Amino acid sequence: MSDRLQIGLLFAFPVLLIAALFALGQTIPVPVLGRSYVITIPLPEAEAQLGLPEIAGPADLTRPLVVIDAGHGGPDPGAIGEDYREKTVVLGLARALRDRLLEEGGIRVAMTRDDDSLVILEERAEIARALGADLFISIHADSAGEDGGVTGASIYTLSETASSEAAARFAQRENDADVVNGVDLSGTDESVNAILVELSQRRTSERSLEFARLIVREGEGVLRFHPQTLRSAALAVLRAPDVPAVLYEAGFISNREEARALASPEGQERFAEVMARAIRIYLARQSNPQ
Ligand SMILES: [Zn+2]
Repeated sequence: MSDRLQIGLLFAFPVLLIAALFALGQTIPVPVLGRSYVITIPLPEAEAQLGLPEIAGPADLTRPLVVIDAGHGGPDPGAIGEDYREKTVVLGLARALRDRLLEEGGIRVAMTRDDDSLVILEERAEIARALGADLFISIHADSAGEDGGVTGASIYTLSETASSEAAARFAQRENDADVVNGVDLSGTDESVNAILVELSQRRTSERSLEFARLIVREGEGVLRFHPQTLRSAALAVLRAPDVPAVLYEAGFISNREEARALASPEGQERFAEVMARAIRIYLARQSNPQ
C-alpha cells in the first residue's frame, strides 16, 4: 500500500465511520480528553408516523410557533348542549384564533385539526412537540349536567403531581434517544434523564402558568370567567414536558345563552382578540426575559 493511500485512508476513516453511523441512525459516545461527548443523529420516524399538520404564517422558521388544538372531533362530540356540540363550537373558536394570529402576522400557527376529524388524545401533545411548538393551546367547552346556570371560562394547567408522573414516564419512554429542551438525553443514564426531564417540566409548568395568568389579565372585562378561573388537573393533552400548554375551557355548552355566545362570530372574535393578545405578550416575554 502506498503512503499516500495509507494517509488517505487515515483521514477517510472518521468520515466513513460517521457516514455508517448516520446510515444506521446510531448515537456514539466519543471519549475526548477524558470527557464524554455524544454525536446524535436525529431520527425522523416519530414525525413520519404522526402525519403532521401544515404550518401557516411566515416561512421564517425563527418565528414562534403556536399549536391550536380544537378538542374532540369526528365520532367524539365532546359536551352536548341543547343546540350545540362542543366539537363544533371549539373548532369555531380555534379557527377564529388562528385567523386572528395570521392576520396580525409574525407568528406561525398550526392546528391539530381543521375539520371534523378525530385526533387521538396522546397525539395532540406529540404533534406540538414534533413541530417544535413554543406554545400549545387546547380549546374545550364544558357541560354542567343539571346545573344549566353555571357559566364562564376557566384555564387548566397540568397539576404538579401529574407533571412529575408525566416527567418520570417520559424519561422512561424516551430513554433511547431524544432531546428535551435542547438537552440530549441519549448518552445519560436513567436517573439523570429523570432529573433533566423534571427540570424541563418544571420550567414548562412555570411558563404554562404564566401564560394562563396572562389570559385572565387580558380577558378581564371582555370574557366571562368562571369564579374558579385557574385550575390544574392531570390532563393527557397537556403532558408534553417541553411545550408550555394550557387547556382553555371556553364556557358551558350546557348553558344555552353561553353556548350561543361562544358559537357566534362576535363571541369568537372576543375570544380570539384576548387570546392573541395574551399569546403576543407571552412570546415577547420569552424572547426578552426580564
Ligand atoms: Zn372537551
